[in-house]
Amino acid sequence: MENKKLDQAVDKRRTFAIISHPDAGKTTITEQLLLYGGIIRKAGSVKARKTGNFAKSDWMAIEKKRGISVTSSVMQFDYGGKRINILDTPGHQDFSEDTYRTLMAVDSAVMVIDSAKGIEPQTKKLFKICKMRGIPIFTFMNKLDRDSRDPMELIAQLEDVLGIEGYPMNWPIGSGKIFKGLYDRYNDRVALYHAKDPEHPYLKLDDDGNLKQSNPIQDDDIYKEAKENMDLIQVAGNQFDRDKIMRGDQTPVFFGSALADFGVQTFLDAYLDFAPQPEEHTTQDDQVVQPDDANFSGFVFKIQANMNPRHRDRIAFVRICSGEFKRGMDVTLERTQRKIRLSNVTEFIANTRENVQTAVAGDIIGLYDTGNFRIGDTIYTGKQNIKFQKLPQFTPELFVKVAAKNVMKQKTFHKGIRQLVEEGAVQLYTSYSTNEYILGAVGQLQFEVFQFRMKNEYHSDIIMKPLGHKIARWIDPDQLDEKMSSSRNILVKDQHNDPLFLFENHFAERWFKDKYPDVKLTAKL
Ligand code: GDP
Repeated sequence: MENKKLDQAVDKRRTFAIISHPDAGKTTITEQLLLYGGIIRKAGSVKARKTGNFAKSDWMAIEKKRGISVTSSVMQFDYGGKRINILDTPGHQDFSEDTYRTLMAVDSAVMVIDSAKGIEPQTKKLFKICKMRGIPIFTFMNKLDRDSRDPMELIAQLEDVLGIEGYPMNWPIGSGKIFKGLYDRYNDRVALYHAKDPEHPYLKLDDDGNLKQSNPIQDDDIYKEAKENMDLIQVAGNQFDRDKIMRGDQTPVFFGSALADFGVQTFLDAYLDFAPQPEEHTTQDDQVVQPDDANFSGFVFKIQANMNPRHRDRIAFVRICSGEFKRGMDVTLERTQRKIRLSNVTEFIANTRENVQTAVAGDIIGLYDTGNFRIGDTIYTGKQNIKFQKLPQFTPELFVKVAAKNVMKQKTFHKGIRQLVEEGAVQLYTSYSTNEYILGAVGQLQFEVFQFRMKNEYHSDIIMKPLGHKIARWIDPDQLDEKMSSSRNILVKDQHNDPLFLFENHFAERWFKDKYPDVKLTAKL
């Protein structure tokens, strides 16, 4: 691809993930977005697939036809002159470190909040990662067709709980049974929830935010209140600040209902006005790699093992950081300095007639992998060595003790653990007092996958004894005295031999802090 064309192709990319707590409406909104992108025709397909009410073969056929990935890990579509990549952040039982790592591969995030519930735990966790990266975060306050919390309170919660300024782009006129629509200063209009004429769902606003033509709605108290609130915010609330949005210090907030498809398109349009295109990436030795660089580069952010025992292959998900991917191209794997030919590749790209299929910076490709790749690996073309920043280590919350069922088979057990830990499937700790192995994860699924793969790939049967939730806190080795360990915590070392305590609960952690006020405890992300 010529430079100019590559530049144009990269400029069009918008790559994001949706962060939310289970049931906030991520699937429903994703589906609406896919509908706008023309990827699916019927509402319900994504949802039905999730609940298993959809024949698998039908789904596969849709995937093939429409170019949605088999696992729907990445969904790509064209809309409003842009090429959009939505990266799935598995939640529910599928929550794992991969969910976090996916957030390392996006340029912005959409935060979906259930307006009746406000900010929930999983949203908070995922938000933290986005905040750490300093990427723009766009908020959709969902389910306004149901009774929801006071919008003022929802905005305040963003600041109080997450520490991000909220800037309402529109304001709900009532909610639930009395939901009338959105007072939308960004587009200078009122969007009517029950428009008499579906062709004309909008009422225009003048520069002062008043209705241009008289309409019964203006006498409605709920409308008046929404308008007053929006006026008040314009004067006394956070000032709209594009730079802050780009840094992730302010989030534009949109209200709506994903289920009723109300406010979703407004959201999508505004999102595209602000969402960033792929940006430069910095390497470990502080080189800056521009997305329109002619050389290809990318990093592995997730490895998905095939759970079918007959197929051991895995897929390594690569975020392209620069250049263009070409099937069959030779790349250098930085860690080993070996050349690898990329021939067996899944491209998560939209199948549209107008667009030649290409994957460029901002896009994701899935490499079939027989064990070459590890999470965090960099691949590149060209002479210049490129090594992207390490992916962060996340603080696990769930722990199990692990041992080989058959004590005679220690060798395969150790080999399996070593490789799976290196790959990033789980985190490994060793107890100071007993030398036992303890595995840490952010979601239960990681243990299940681990057990399965140990058996399947290393023929190692393992015993896992759940230790439940723990609070992992690292301690400076110089401050450590093994006597600090008590019945309320387990003293372990991590893969890098750094010591940490696994506290039973916050109470145990506080008790420790009171007892050793000079000892500094730290969490990873
Ligand atoms: P996810 O777990 O975040 O993917 O959430 P889903 O999209 O599966 O939605 C969870 C439940 O909330 C489902 O029963 C949806 O039909 C429902 N839901 C999603 N969005 C809305 C909405 O805007 N209004 C209402 N009333 N229900 C919604």
